[in-house]
Amino acid sequence: GRGMDAASLTLKLLLIGDSAVGKSSLLLRFTDGAFEPSLKPTIGVDFKVKKMVIDGRAVQLAIWDTAGQERFRTLTPSYYRGAQGVVLVYDVTRKDTFTGLDSWLNELEIYTSKNSTVKMLVGNKTDKPDREVERKEGLQFARKRSLLFIETSAKTLDGVQHAFEELAIKILQTP
Ligand code: GDP
Repeated sequence: GRGMDAASLTLKLLLIGDSAVGKSSLLLRFTDGAFEPSLKPTIGVDFKVKKMVIDGRAVQLAIWDTAGQERFRTLTPSYYRGAQGVVLVYDVTRKDTFTGLDSWLNELEIYTSKNSTVKMLVGNKTDKPDREVERKEGLQFARKRSLLFIETSAKTLDGVQHAFEELAIKILQTP
């Protein structure tokens, strides 16, 4: 089960996606409220915990960040182990990060359980003017692959809370 003890329900969530799409920024923004314009590449495996109340229930989200391993377009199996939710991030101003999504989905298929891992596609950096991927394209891709979908800006905070909340809600609804 998912540890149904209401007092201590913890969900493991992963951030994945290409380098520099904003994974660490989204995590920091969601958990600390901070936005750091000159963020250094992630060093070392790291995760942060965020407490939320969902449907009157106390939930802890343990959200893991990739430690820069994603530069090699692959992560270690232990990173994926036990994940109930995955946030797959691309940058709406970099088409290559969108076309690269399939390789991430292939890897997810190998390492996570198809039926019990909920996936959220996130198009980040909507505050920037130089968009290369339209919202509609993201939405279509997500529909085809049965992913939840949202666009965000880690800079303005637009959609950030919503992304993690929707994912957590969906996980709690998944048998
Ligand atoms: P990661 O490698 O996927 O973890 O990406 P980072 O979080 O390190 O972000 C890469 C760069 O993009 C950093 O300079 C961030 O400040 C910047 N960045 C991240 N999210 C946004 C966003 O939503 N809008 C803008 N304008 N910049 C962002």
